[in-house]
Amino acid sequence: MSRKKLWYLIGLSFVAAVAIPLAFQLLPAQTKTHTISLESKKYGYSPSRIIVNQGDTILFKPSSLDATHGFLLDGYPLEFVMRKGATFLKYTWEDDDGNLQSDWDRVSEVEFTADQAGKFTFRCTQTCGNLHPFMTGELIVRPNNLYYLFISLSIWLVFSLLFYIRSDTGSGFSGFRRINLLEKWPWLAKIFKLRSFQFLVILPNFIVFYLFIVSSLMGSPVGNRNITIIFVWILWWFLLKAVIVPIGGRIWCMVCPLPAPAEWLSRRSLTGVRYFEKKFKALHHRFTGLQKDWPKVIDNIWLQNVLFLALISFGIILITRPIATAFMFLGILAVSLVTALIYRRRIFCQYLCPVGGFLGTYSMASMTELRAIDCEVCKKHKEKSCFAGGPDGWACPWKQYLGTMNRNNYCGLCTECIKSCPKDNVGVFLRPFGSDRVLKGYDEMFNVMIMLVVAIAFSITMGGPWSVIKDAANVTESRQIAPFLIYVASIWGLSLVVFPGIFALVARLANRMAGNRVNNRIMTLRLAYILVPIGIFAWIAFSLPMLMVNYSYILNVLSDPLGLGWNLFGTADFPYQPFYPEWIPLIQGLILLAGLYFGISRGYLAIKDMLDKPAARTRAMVIPSVFALLIVNLFLNIYMG
Ligand code: SF4
Ligand code: SF4
Repeated sequence: MSRKKLWYLIGLSFVAAVAIPLAFQLLPAQTKTHTISLESKKYGYSPSRIIVNQGDTILFKPSSLDATHGFLLDGYPLEFVMRKGATFLKYTWEDDDGNLQSDWDRVSEVEFTADQAGKFTFRCTQTCGNLHPFMTGELIVRPNNLYYLFISLSIWLVFSLLFYIRSDTGSGFSGFRRINLLEKWPWLAKIFKLRSFQFLVILPNFIVFYLFIVSSLMGSPVGNRNITIIFVWILWWFLLKAVIVPIGGRIWCMVCPLPAPAEWLSRRSLTGVRYFEKKFKALHHRFTGLQKDWPKVIDNIWLQNVLFLALISFGIILITRPIATAFMFLGILAVSLVTALIYRRRIFCQYLCPVGGFLGTYSMASMTELRAIDCEVCKKHKEKSCFAGGPDGWACPWKQYLGTMNRNNYCGLCTECIKSCPKDNVGVFLRPFGSDRVLKGYDEMFNVMIMLVVAIAFSITMGGPWSVIKDAANVTESRQIAPFLIYVASIWGLSLVVFPGIFALVARLANRMAGNRVNNRIMTLRLAYILVPIGIFAWIAFSLPMLMVNYSYILNVLSDPLGLGWNLFGTADFPYQPFYPEWIPLIQGLILLAGLYFGISRGYLAIKDMLDKPAARTRAMVIPSVFALLIVNLFLNIYMG
């Protein structure tokens, strides 16, 4: 098919993909009145999902079974508060000066018309306990056109991409040429070469980190009133997933305060290099402690996978209890110190840090890379100072040799090689999203699966309306041991057995459809890359609403970081006010479609060099693309359906 015909086909099918779901709007529907006894109880509503037709009238008879709870409906001017035995409805009016005023009316019923179609979340507005920020319910007003539209667009996108792949003559999805930022901005190279650079960027983080530990131990035990919980689990988590990793890869490792004391102790220096002419175990340095090397048999990220899953099993407790976050930080600090006294280099970061595993695999897609400018120069340079250390820079703390390093996974962007290389042969490049596309082992593939399953589990647990799942995850408060064990077993089972098993089958079928020209293991690992961009975008789609909905807590804790009644900047009482929450499903849909596009296009590039014929490449991509479509539709269903 010619390129022109292809674009016609893609354009026409796009019109159909938009028109068909919107036509549902034209179907006639009868309106009626729904009388609903709405019960609120920590941490959910009953019914948790309310489904009506556009134009229906809803008559709530609200009640609270325990604490005071709120009800704020996204997209509708409807808010009330439920206390035991009493409900108060908020009403607003404009005063003579045009300012909006509000007050509360005691009521027994609340009536409104569901005149806007779509999915709308209702949220608790009263801090009612540990899981208060996740106390939500859902109102579905049919026809849910936006959801149908995104299902249709996702199908259109997959078929368009497959047609495009079929007609690709070799240059498809190639992106822009990478740019060496150190060449473009020489001042940046000068900054990176400063011996004090890393210390100076860690220092402010280090101070804030210790203040966070103090605030977790001494501040308010209520999560949304404690600065550590709000800054770490809402702001930092969002920035890490949506900005830091996709743009800067492991740049967080450059500024991370957690392993810094261990590294300073191990090096016996804050900024300087302790260089010895005579090598010890291949390096020009001596470190504090036993100076052992990490055992070869665990030279992979399996331990990180297991530790991440272990941490995530208590995820909802960790992100809502300041004391749990404090103990996690102190534990990490202790383990990094102990490992630094036994092993050389950043062993904790590379093999044990629970978030280090996904920082590595997700940084493969990031738009920045640090690489040797010319690998031939490396080959001829006998000293290999980046690996062994030099008078101006420490040996790579991540055991990387720049001459062969071709992925971001295990480069902590510490900038030591920029300083140690006497040939000025190290560059920091801006590159297209999704440029490292080769997963090297099943440990990395499982990491990708774990991240995807945890994104699904968190979306359901924290974003969904099901209090039974929240109670299962919130075991220290609910005391429901059996549901908790089922919850944890489901996450572990899906991550380690079900998803990898299904994906192995998908990859096998793909290989068979392409003519079995490639080893099954290699095909599976290459195709698994599809799930890296999809995972990154799914995490962004999960984290962004957390920020949009809870940003007012950031303003509150900035003024009152310890929850002691301070009002440092006058924002301690800033009202709870989600930021355009009615836009959240649309934004999430767009983010997920972007993930689907990058997943399939980069997955295709990952297998392209192994299959010479366009028809074989297309056949290899069909089943994995359908798998990707199903995954994205699962998220669409959770967020919009
Ligand atoms: S020190 Fe520089 S030239 Fe030598 S191997 Fe490392 S990056 Fe290459
Ligand atoms: S490759 Fe360079 S920047 Fe990356 S961790 Fe090693 S020394 Fe640091």
